[in-house]
Amino acid sequence: MVSKSQSVYDQINRPLRDLRISVTDKCNFRCTYCMPAELFGPDYPFLERHEILSFEEIERLTRLFVNSLGVKKIRITGGEPLMRKDLPQLIEKINAIDGVKDIAMTTNGVLLPKHAKALKKAGLMRVSISLDSLDDELFGQINGRGVSVQEVLNGIDAAKEAGLQVKINMVVKRGMNEKEIVPMAKFFREKGHILRYIEFMDVGNTNEWRLDDVYSKNQIIEDIHKDMPLEPIDPNYVGEVATRYRYVGSNDEIGIISSVTDAFCKSCNRARISAEGKLYTCLFSSEGHDLRDVLRSSVSDEEVAKHIQAIWQGRKDQYSVDRSHLKNKRNKVEMSRIGG
Ligand code: SAM
Ligand code: SF4
Ligand code: SF4
Repeated sequence: MVSKSQSVYDQINRPLRDLRISVTDKCNFRCTYCMPAELFGPDYPFLERHEILSFEEIERLTRLFVNSLGVKKIRITGGEPLMRKDLPQLIEKINAIDGVKDIAMTTNGVLLPKHAKALKKAGLMRVSISLDSLDDELFGQINGRGVSVQEVLNGIDAAKEAGLQVKINMVVKRGMNEKEIVPMAKFFREKGHILRYIEFMDVGNTNEWRLDDVYSKNQIIEDIHKDMPLEPIDPNYVGEVATRYRYVGSNDEIGIISSVTDAFCKSCNRARISAEGKLYTCLFSSEGHDLRDVLRSSVSDEEVAKHIQAIWQGRKDQYSVDRSHLKNKRNKVEMSRIGG
């Protein structure tokens, strides 16, 4: 029997704590490192409506993860999560689940002016908004749709005005946008938002990742430190993925997510559910565990929870630790399917 709120541990003693839910595989951007336009064109077989989990199915799963499996924090992602119709209704359902301590969302931001207030009212607490450059021409190329920087800045302002906590995510790829590291640091320090740099990762099979394209955490720190000296600070909590730094003499901070050059698998406590209801125990998994058919059969809540518990207990993933020793190229799920 799966008891209420008990922690579930995997093969290397990592508890299940966070759940990331992708609500759509569609996106209004075509970021070159995530959904390159040449591959995600008009004929791309995006999921049909009946293939994705309904809000009721997501609510049921979330309730089981929170009540029976030890999850405390929920993050909504995609694709672009704001492409999913009526998203505030889902947030409201999740917010009503007893035991949910935190609800956040990752978004490219352009639809926030339309939805920020309703999302906040529904119970959303935090947003991470992605922006990779302050240069319009470069940003338009990166997002693959010519979207201007101002559109994202409007989203950031709308989120702040609505009372949501805001952080900014910037993927750094060598040869793409390393020159934007310092201007972004200055801009968001002044604006009062924490900026988090993300090393370019080998998620999926379509972004032509090469180790040489990774601009490392150490290089990012070095670039900023030359202009604005930094000092390391302690994590906010065990398992925080971003390494934190503070500008010397102030409380302004940045974070770096260094999945490639400084793996954090030993504290990885996240499960991910794709839009079609597959459970992934690692961002770099080849295959997910189907939960949609389980949910759509007549299986009881208790049996679904036991099924998920067994999957987590069998987990041994530590791809970022193993990356450099892996001989064969692995087939991996795309980022737009599981949402980072
Ligand atoms: N569409 C939303 C967005 O862009 O914020 C949510 C989904 S997106 C897949 C989640 C995060 O993953 C974004 O911050 C994005 O920049 C990041 N990301 C996508 N592909 C990546 C890659 N290959 N390496 C590192 N980060 C990546
Ligand atoms: Fe869309 Fe986000 Fe991927 Fe960019 S990173 S293509 S915005 S899902
Ligand atoms: Fe977690 Fe997999 Fe990333 Fe390691 S590589 S931190 S196990 S998601």
